[in-house]
Amino acid sequence: MDTKQFFKGLLYSMGISCSLSGLFGFGAWLAGSSFWAYFVFAFALQFLYASIANPIRQRRDSIKRAEIEARYVLAESQQFLDIQCAYCKRRNVVPILLNITNVFDCEKCNETSAIHMSFTSVRITTPLVTDMDKKIIDELQTEEDKDDSGY
Ligand SMILES: [Zn+2]
Repeated sequence: MDTKQFFKGLLYSMGISCSLSGLFGFGAWLAGSSFWAYFVFAFALQFLYASIANPIRQRRDSIKRAEIEARYVLAESQQFLDIQCAYCKRRNVVPILLNITNVFDCEKCNETSAIHMSFTSVRITTPLVTDMDKKIIDELQTEEDKDDSGY
């Protein structure tokens, strides 16, 4: 928010506050009381209300924002799996989450299947090429070259 917008907003809310306080003061004046005393009283009351209501509103907004962010993270972490129905073997594309028990209703037979997930770990390896392998590869390569030159 730039300063021009800020002062516009401030002027706008001050205008509304003054109008309301003025109305209140006018009502008091009609009833035979002091206009300014009630004007100041109404103005202070609005100020008090704003100072209580604004932090509550801000807190509510931040909770809502956190909820939206959590939902976004959940949507981001969702994976899709192309998996067969346990009853009719029809393939279904199903969203899965790793931290819950995943189930899905088949598009064809409407039966509910659970998704069993299993993971295995493997070592990261680089393929070993021994001297013997190299010899065989070289021999195959030269044989291939001979075949090519033969025609
Ligand atoms: Zn099915």
